[in-house]
Order: sequence, then C-alpha cells, then structure tokens
Amino acid sequence: MAKTEKDVFSFQTEVGQLLDIVAGSLYSNREIFLRELVSNASDACDKLRYASLTDTGLAQTSDEFAITLDVDKDAGTLSVSDNGIGMNHQDLLDTLGTIARSGTGAFIEALKAEDKEKVGLIGQFGVGFYSAFMVADQVHVQTRKAGDTDSWLWSSDGKGSFSIEPGQKDTTGTTVVLHLKKDAEEFLEDQRIRHIIKTYSDHISFPVKLGDDALNTASAIWTRASKDITEEQHTEFYRHVSHAFDEPWHVMHNRVEGAVNHTSLLYVPSSPPLDLFDADRKSHVKLYVNRVFISDTTQDLIPAYLRFLRGIVDSQDLSLNVSREMLQSDPTMAKIKTSISKKVLSELKKKAKDTDAYATFWTNFGAVLKEGLVEDPALRDRLLEVCHFSSTGTEGLTTLKGYIERLKDKQEAIYYITGEDSSKIAKSPHLEGFKAKGIEVLLLSDHVDEFWLQHVTKFDGKLLKSITRGAADLDNIASDEDAPKNKDKTDLANLIAAFKVVLGDSVKDIRSSKRLTDSPVCLIADDGDMDVNLERLLMRHGQLQSGMARVLELNPTHPIISKLNDRAQTDNASTDELLGDAAHLLFDQARIVEGEDVADPVEFVRRLSSVLSKAL
Ligand code: ADP
Ligand code: MG
Repeated sequence: MAKTEKDVFSFQTEVGQLLDIVAGSLYSNREIFLRELVSNASDACDKLRYASLTDTGLAQTSDEFAITLDVDKDAGTLSVSDNGIGMNHQDLLDTLGTIARSGTGAFIEALKAEDKEKVGLIGQFGVGFYSAFMVADQVHVQTRKAGDTDSWLWSSDGKGSFSIEPGQKDTTGTTVVLHLKKDAEEFLEDQRIRHIIKTYSDHISFPVKLGDDALNTASAIWTRASKDITEEQHTEFYRHVSHAFDEPWHVMHNRVEGAVNHTSLLYVPSSPPLDLFDADRKSHVKLYVNRVFISDTTQDLIPAYLRFLRGIVDSQDLSLNVSREMLQSDPTMAKIKTSISKKVLSELKKKAKDTDAYATFWTNFGAVLKEGLVEDPALRDRLLEVCHFSSTGTEGLTTLKGYIERLKDKQEAIYYITGEDSSKIAKSPHLEGFKAKGIEVLLLSDHVDEFWLQHVTKFDGKLLKSITRGAADLDNIASDEDAPKNKDKTDLANLIAAFKVVLGDSVKDIRSSKRLTDSPVCLIADDGDMDVNLERLLMRHGQLQSGMARVLELNPTHPIISKLNDRAQTDNASTDELLGDAAHLLFDQARIVEGEDVADPVEFVRRLSSVLSKAL
C-alpha cells in the first residue's frame, strides 16, 4: 500500500449518532471504557496467537503477549497498548468508523430514550471501542498489523469524521491513546486505574501492566480451582465472553479426565441473548486448545438446543495445528460435545428441583431446549426429565413425571392441547369435559411443541394424546367425587343428519361430544389426521396449501343443541331454514373460538341477522 497522505472519512450514520450520545452521556460508570479497550487488546492477542499457530512467520512475539497501560500526566493522556494482531488500512476502515454488527439500531434507540444506564451495555452490542469517547475528546490509534511493515494512525475527535494516515509504529500491535477530557482526569490516577482493572479485567489471561506491575491475576480463569473463583470474577468473565450484561443464572465449571480430557466453564444467562431465535441457531461457546483461543464459531462443540450457553471449552487433546475447518469433523470434538451435553442436562436436573428458580430458566430457554427432543434422540429421555410444562393441574409448571403421579384412576394417556397463545388455549372449549372430570391437560404453546410431539409419543408407558384430535375417551376415567355427572344421553341422530346435509364437505364428520360441558360446539381433527395447530403452523409457513376438513362436535347437554335437536325430529329437517342457518352459525362459531376467520363473512352476518330478527 503506497498511501502517504492523510485521508478524512465520515463516520457511518449510526456511528455518528452513537458518538453524539456517548460523548454527551452523563453516565456515572464511565470507567467501563477501560474494560472495553482492554477486552479489545486481549482479543487482538488471542487472534495473533491463533494466527501464529499456522503461520510460523508471525510467531516472534507469541510468548510475550501483554497489554500495557501508560499515563502521561503532563499531556493528559492514558494509553492502552497491545502486541496483538494489529490492523491494516482496510481493517481500520471496516471496524473503526462503521458498525458491522446488527442490533446497534436497537442500542441507539434505547440510548435515545434517555436510559442512561444502558450506556454500560455498549460492549454487548459490538461497539465497545466507541466508549472511549465518554472520557476522551481526542482518540489516536497507532497500529501495525502482524506480518506488515507499514503502520497507520487513526484519529478522531468523535465529531462526525475520522482520519487515517501513515503511522510511525515499529512493532506489531495497537496503541490506543486517549486525550482525556478535563472532567475525566481521575483516570490518570494510579490507584483508580488499578482498581478498575481489578474490578473488570482480572480474568483477562494476558498480563495487564502499569509500569512493571501486572495488575490482574493473568491466569486463564478456568484453570483455577472452582473454589478459588469468586462470584464477582465469574460475573465479569461471563460478561467478557458473552458480551452480555446480566448475571449468570448458573455456573458450570467442570474438568473431565478420561477418554478426552477437557475443561469447560459454561454459564446459563439469566436473560435471553438477542440472537437466541436467529435462523442460524449459532452457538457462542469459545474453543481453546491448551489455553490458546481457537474459535468462537465452532458449531460442533455445543448442540444447537444448548445455544443459550456462554463460556469456554479448553481441551489439550485437540491438535493445535489443526485448522478451524478441520476441527468440525474431528471425532474428538464429537466426544466432547456428547460429554458436555450430558453434563449440562444433569446439572439442569439438579437445578430443576427448585421449581420456582427453574421457572426463570424455563421461560427463557425451554423452547430452545425442547428442540433437542427432535434433534438428539440419544439424550431424549434425559431431556424429557428436565422439560417443564404449564398444565391445568398445577399452579406453576409440572414435569411429565409429576403429571403421571396425578393420573386419575383408569387414565391411560397424558393429555395435552397445543396452540399459539397460552392464555387462549387455557380457555379452549376442548378442555371443558376434562376440567369437569378433574383430568389434567398440559398446555403447550411453543412452536416447537408440535414438532417434538411427532417424535415423542409415549412417556412412562402412557400415550401422549392431543385433546383436539380423535374421540375423547373420557367415559372410563374415574371422576372427582364432586364433579358434575354427565346426565344427558340425548340422541342427536336427527340433528346430526340434518347438519350433515347442510354443511356437506366443509366438515369431515359430525358427532355428539363427550369433551364439551359449557360450549355448544367445537372442532377437532379426526384420529389419524394432522393436529389442528400443526396444520395452522404449516399453512402459515407455506408448507401446506389447504387444511383438512375437521370433525364438528355437538354438545348434547347444551340448551341450543337440545332445542335444535327437538326441532330436527321431523322428516324435512334438512330443508328447515332455521336449522340450516344454525348449522352454519355454529360451525363459524367453532372456527372463531379457534382464532380463525368465519368461512364467509357476508353470509355469516346475513344468517346472524336473520336468526336474531326471528328471535325478536
Ligand atoms: P467488538 O470488540 O465487540 O468487536 P469494538 O467496538 O470493541 O467491538 O471493536 C470493534 C473492532 O475493532 C474489533 O472487532 C476489532 O476488529 C477492532 N479492534 C478494536 N481494538 C483493537 C485492537 N486493540 N487490536 C486490533 N483490533 C482492534
Ligand atoms: Mg470490544
């Protein structure tokens, strides 16, 4: 590159907006800028250490990685230097001036809403570098990329533009020089700096030096004994590896010695990461080989259904010289993956004993974990043990085992209903007969429920049965003592015959219902047909063109149905106009309760008006 001049560039619009807010922020925890710069320096050292594994020409500095802080009181500057990977001209343009990562828009919106404390989240959004402008009115970045001979100086006052010109750095790495604002001179004080590093950066595995002193412990945190790691240190490390700002909900630190030696330090977040439901379902656990950072995108290390985990895995049994691509098919990786999955599930099983605390976890990550029921048949039983469900039988959540313990006499199945909205399905007419008999029904409202239920059809010898499909075989099951007895045995044959003529192909069948007590009608899927909610999901995603005709069930104990039935006791019932309108209206009513549209809105309104005017 033969550039010799100074070029001036405008910040990308988002960066400009971000800087305006950050620079003017009255955020009280401004000290976090140092955490962000040290974190970047540490990442840069990690990157060079990895690059030098495969490119021996870069190896010269490998063992001496360090992050060095320098204070110049006269000039009013604090600088953060590293001997890491460095940046070339293009890197500077790509990373310091533009924002590659998504989610920044949301961050800017949050900041605009005057929510000052949110500034502390800056690192989580992949824009931590810009926090330098909270304390500095001039930032200079001197940098030289490993393997290059030329260096660059990036500078900006954070007001709309930055410049890049040839630099004078004769060693590999980066030095960020902050010209501190008048009101930020506290960050020139030795004690203040020491305290900040100890608080936020103790876990950094390279020494962070001030003069000749290393301010941090500088040993990889996961190599320490579990009892020597404090809760604060875990929190800081968790935030560092995950770019998150919450507390870990659970910490799992394990050393496995055996077929494949590895150490893992994994965290379950207490709030869901932003990309949890992104289509690529990426895991973010970092892979180290003998304390050397290898990759944070290794998809074969953690199964997709555990993608909420954050942290690291370190194994000395993987080859250091293997490329990231080759790691993916390394059989050692598969062994580590299985071992970790089992360990995590057994930890969750322990945590699940405290149902209240587990509810937080379940609300955040239950839907993700359930993907494993489909994807990991080998661990399906262990997964089922840690799955919790809403149910009509308990206040909070229940396990399948808990459900089995509450089975009624002669109850042979585990009943469930699926739907998209938990509060809606809890009020579904399909539940009426089950409620009346005191029979518990699981309420399943995650999308994934439809899919795992295709794979898991039994638990503990009991069939899992949808209450919106097939006949409701409630007669044999013993009722609660005080439950109302189903007194009415009315024969609906004539009414059903008349309705069948009127509704024709729009229904598959019409039957007298055993599951209804309060509502006059409901729709169900026939035995062997696709369950109603699954069909709806598939149609919405264009994987199914049209739905199947359903079975319409009539409640013989409901006054509307029994009066209509009385009226149907004639030979010409199928041509009775009122019976015809009623058939359509009741069919539409059943659809409405399911959250669907009426078959024909114009006809619906005409029939409703006609029936009303006859009643008046
Ligand atoms: P993040 O660290 O989350 O990527 P930052 O805003 O902190 O976001 O940094 C943006 C990018 O700038 C980094 O990803 C890296 O590519 C580059 N960068 C920042 N500081 C350094 C450094 N000291 N050495 C090398 N690259 C750096
Ligand atoms: Mg950063």
